[in-house]
Amino acid sequence: MTEKLFYQDGYVKEFDATVLSCEQTEKGYLVVLDRTGFFPEGGGQYADPGWLGEAEVLDVQEKEGTIYHAVTAPFEAGTSVHGKIDWDIRFERMQQHTGEHIISGIVHGRFGYENVGFHLADDYCTMDFNGPITKEELKEIELEANKAVFRNLEIGIAYPSKEELKTMEYRSKIEIEGKVRIVTVPGYDVCACCAPHLRSTGEIGLIKLVNMANYKGGERITMLCGFRALADYEIKEKNTKAISALLSAKEYEVADAVAHLKDELGAMKGKTVSLQQKLLAYRAEEIPVDKDMTVIFDADLEGNAPRELMNRMLEKGAKACAVFAGTEEAGYRYVIGSKSEDVRPLCKKINEAFQGRGGGKAEMVQGSLHGAEEKIRAEIADVFCI
Ligand SMILES: [Zn+2]
Repeated sequence: MTEKLFYQDGYVKEFDATVLSCEQTEKGYLVVLDRTGFFPEGGGQYADPGWLGEAEVLDVQEKEGTIYHAVTAPFEAGTSVHGKIDWDIRFERMQQHTGEHIISGIVHGRFGYENVGFHLADDYCTMDFNGPITKEELKEIELEANKAVFRNLEIGIAYPSKEELKTMEYRSKIEIEGKVRIVTVPGYDVCACCAPHLRSTGEIGLIKLVNMANYKGGERITMLCGFRALADYEIKEKNTKAISALLSAKEYEVADAVAHLKDELGAMKGKTVSLQQKLLAYRAEEIPVDKDMTVIFDADLEGNAPRELMNRMLEKGAKACAVFAGTEEAGYRYVIGSKSEDVRPLCKKINEAFQGRGGGKAEMVQGSLHGAEEKIRAEIADVFCI
């Protein structure tokens, strides 16, 4: 059994220990020490990163009371080694974990729901509860949790006897072998838990519940505590300031300003469509219809405009009409139609000649191709008399 220093004191950042064994594996070297401050992976939390001497600690796992450190270099049994935990990461995790106790305690006390899933990743932390919570209730839970932070309550750790445990009310009442470690946030939560916690709630900093989604009939809540909440604030602040400057709107009013901008854009799109209709009418009027096939090249036609222009030309009396939108460099989109001729053979011919694709019915084909305007015109003239 490895002596677990993190149980005695969650603030052990460095420690000295004796190497009991070291085994080479695929993952690196597996080192067992007589004592350790490294918290192993478990309970939804990743293993502590850090260093043993100069070697990096890649993973920490516990098996039947023994803790195995996967490290990047070998150690000789019997030698002493200095362990150092990556404290920035560990402290940030303790902020999330302790915050989770408060949220779970409040949800349990108010709704009776259990925390049925907990995941503490490097950039987010989620908790799953087995019952519904409304958005308004979520806001109330967040406020209450932050009040617990500002009260700066001391967090208690105790190992009650089996008899005492029977009469106690606490969360996570699963069968645990040996001593049960009870973590208490006074007035908010009593829970059996073996992970490292902060000494007082004030060290958590801000508790921010940033998202909630339905999950297996309950809710999955995403939470950011302390430094993570600060980092999140910084990103959101940067974005808000940028939008505020772009729209010349006050920071608290950017959403209204964007909504206004969206309305304006919608109105402008409507205007563009009506202007395009007018423009197409003028274009159709000025293009002469005096040949079997009327061919039009236009770089500015977008959306349905090529087809609309073609229809206008057919209505005007063109026997057949081909409209090419785009440029020689970017390629052309085409639409070809006729009220009396089958345009499919032409479609097949130009597709073959200009690596094109597309097709359609006898009276109308659509597609795209790459080629020079002159050559495309010549190819069409081969089929239709222009
Ligand atoms: Zn805990």
